[in-house]
Amino acid sequence: GLETRDVTAWFGQRKVLERVSFAMRAGEITALIGPSGCGKSTYLRILNRMHEMVRGAALAGEVLLEGEDVYAPGRRPAEVRRRIGMVFQRPNPFPAMSLYDNVVSGLKLAGIKATREERDHLVESSLRQAGLWNEVSNRLGTPGGALSGGQQQRLCIARSLAVAPEILLMDEPCSALDPTSTRRIEETIAELRHRVTIVIVTHNMQQAQRVSQSCAFFLASHDTPGRIVESGPTERLFTDPADQRTADYVNGRF
Ligand code: ATP
Ligand code: MG
Repeated sequence: GLETRDVTAWFGQRKVLERVSFAMRAGEITALIGPSGCGKSTYLRILNRMHEMVRGAALAGEVLLEGEDVYAPGRRPAEVRRRIGMVFQRPNPFPAMSLYDNVVSGLKLAGIKATREERDHLVESSLRQAGLWNEVSNRLGTPGGALSGGQQQRLCIARSLAVAPEILLMDEPCSALDPTSTRRIEETIAELRHRVTIVIVTHNMQQAQRVSQSCAFFLASHDTPGRIVESGPTERLFTDPADQRTADYVNGRF
């Protein structure tokens, strides 16, 4: 699993997250919800060491992957990013690169060497896991940009899976997609659950309820940095929230 302890984050002088302690359990899908600007994307970037790539960003606290500090001195960010993948809101395949090379591209970045045969196998198994193989197996040479938006997002999921991450972070992966593509991605996520620990940020409350087993509600205000107001089993958070602000948010009252 993946855990944060007292994670506080700044952009310059501005504190945007304060003392976020939370555990994401293996074998579960965790949904992170909360209003715009409460720090969900920042929190995801902290988990896989992308936060430190942002100008002016600072961090305190601990992130533990299988109990080991992700920020331990001497630990390579690239190794952390291989084990903790990320899929973004806008599908971002390399548009001119073939489907095949798109899936393989992650291996090069991660410094993983593979034979042609191993690559063929990885491309097929990654596309299968992403629910795309049946649609594209006979046109692996076509450019990534030739796919529909939903297919491009599943291609990005396949690219992430090629390096066999333990955790997959997804930042609003369906918000640019139509309802049918959204459902396909949700099915894919559900099937991945036992192989990869998934953390998904979503503004879609139905989606959070459909896909996740655990949920955390983030909130910030003009003078308070983002914090987790409440977390727990998704079912309970939605049907019996302990905090009035959670109840208001999940019922669409702000
Ligand atoms: P949304 O739901 O709109 O995606 P979010 O919950 O993902 O919002 P973040 O993007 O994490 O929120 O932003 C948290 C706070 O940090 C916001 O106030 C935002 O303006 C600020 N912030 C984010 N990125 C930067 C940056 N690169 N430099 C300065 N401030 C930033
Ligand atoms: Mg965001």
